[in-house]
Amino acid sequence: MSPQNLVVIGASLAGLRAAEAARKAGFSGTITMVGAEHHLPYDRPPLSKAYLDGVEPKAPYFRTEEKLRDDLGVELLLGASATGLDTANKQVLLGESRLDYDALVIATGATARRLPGVAGLAGVHTLRTLDDAMAVRGALDAGARTVVVGCGFIGSEVASGARKRGLEVTVVEAQPTPLARAVGDEMGRVCAKLHHRHGTDLRCGVGVERIEGEGRVERVVLSDGTAIDADLVVVGIGAEPNTEWLAGSGLALDDGVVCDEYLCAGDGIYAAGDVARWHNPLFDRAMRLEHWTSAAEQAAVAARNAVHPAEAKPYRTVPYFWSDWYDSRIQFVGIPAAEEVRIVEGDPARDRRVVALYREGDRLVGALTINGQNVIMKFRGLIMKGASWADAVAFAEQRRAVAASA
Ligand code: ADP
Repeated sequence: MSPQNLVVIGASLAGLRAAEAARKAGFSGTITMVGAEHHLPYDRPPLSKAYLDGVEPKAPYFRTEEKLRDDLGVELLLGASATGLDTANKQVLLGESRLDYDALVIATGATARRLPGVAGLAGVHTLRTLDDAMAVRGALDAGARTVVVGCGFIGSEVASGARKRGLEVTVVEAQPTPLARAVGDEMGRVCAKLHHRHGTDLRCGVGVERIEGEGRVERVVLSDGTAIDADLVVVGIGAEPNTEWLAGSGLALDDGVVCDEYLCAGDGIYAAGDVARWHNPLFDRAMRLEHWTSAAEQAAVAARNAVHPAEAKPYRTVPYFWSDWYDSRIQFVGIPAAEEVRIVEGDPARDRRVVALYREGDRLVGALTINGQNVIMKFRGLIMKGASWADAVAFAEQRRAVAASA
């Protein structure tokens, strides 16, 4: 019998897209969506971008409560956390109560990693939720001297937002280069130039020793002994998948919920978004992505597979993310593990626009652009098709020649 009772745990982008996709696939049973936050599903990328700018922010909600209920037929349980999963009885535990499912989509996302020893110190924030963003925005409004810990997506976008307001910003990054995990060292160094050019004091290869202050942050002391005065500290040092509630459930957990290529984690159980580690057939490896695009796509596939398991389809993708630094858009497709990175357009020391390709064997496996919005998806298409390195370089050369003659 096909499922009649879809439960979605997580009420963010992936949770919402799962409900939408189930309905689009003709599912007419009940959909219950459980979310730990009190907010309706909202969009996260703007929280570290437009939301931090000086102008009055727009509420980033996707749909109103009425639309979720009346148009999508979703029963929403907000401010409720799943605490366990009983796979034998097909029930999700919510504290003392239990919720029956015959199809389950796990979309519990990830939690921002924190620095140890700063609990209770006012002015120290992570930036992942709407509440975090409101707090950070309030501190920027007050003209905070800002220290950012971690030069990844979040840290760099917060630094950009603070500099746009003319505030002093220091970024402390433990690795020798920023964004190393996402784009590799070589292009990480290129991205670092954006910070230098915009007056952000970027300190790489140094850790945070401690954060000092009486009840509220006053200064950050680095591992090299330097002390930096601060009114606001934003910690952007990555995120951990929210899987604690699944301990003892029998599901395989390994830095995320382990899924097969169908995003299936167990009997009637699928996962999507930041929490899912699935086998991506396109690269023949297990991946866990924290990107907006894959969260939305995975949720759609997971929900369709959950409600129509007999017609399940695998999820294969070329990872894609973007990040806005100052007046530049960084975009990346593919994977950064490469034997060679070649800059095929632009001189990073001089030009606003840069295109770099990543090679593994004789294949194109990744591409990074800075202000290359009109080509990045072409490279995504080439990687999807398994294009050779020679073809990709030739294509880039042709695009560069066209741009130069325009
Ligand atoms: P986020 O989504 O929080 O931006 P990323 O993984 O993109 O996460 O970036 C996190 C950055 O923080 C990485 O560049 C990583 O090297 C850096 N980092 C991790 N731990 C520390 C630390 N204790 N101090 C400074 N930087 C750190």
